[in-house]
Amino acid sequence: MTVLAVNGVAVIAEKPVPMRHSFKGLPQNFRRIAKLLLANGDEVFACLVDGCEYTSPADQPVERVMQHLGKAHPEGKVRRGAADAGPPADLRDLPLREVYRLAQLGLQASTKIAEWRGRAVAAEKRLEDGRRAFLGEAGTK
Ligand SMILES: [Zn+2]
Repeated sequence: MTVLAVNGVAVIAEKPVPMRHSFKGLPQNFRRIAKLLLANGDEVFACLVDGCEYTSPADQPVERVMQHLGKAHPEGKVRRGAADAGPPADLRDLPLREVYRLAQLGLQASTKIAEWRGRAVAAEKRLEDGRRAFLGEAGTK
């Protein structure tokens, strides 16, 4: 949870806010907007930009927060520790630190894939050797 209280009322839960449009069939959430459930039962949309306290009643269109974002934070910074908003619609929406983290994960994954590919090739060779030994050379193609 990134916000503890709104106008003195405690925040009970923070939920991502889905966008109306999906990206390649995947639902997308706003990265800079969350819906907050308050202790008094109210729900508000909150701007997640670091240091900003802007909220808008959740019974109002989310476009109000989008307009706020465009005017007050055109640079696009996301509050540190913001709720995971799901995969971004575009890498350009991500802070550089997140792009670097994803690149590191991709590099680790490709290293593991290369390691497992080597093991798979070695296992195939051992299987083929075992098959040849079991069937005799006549049993091979
Ligand atoms: Zn804001």
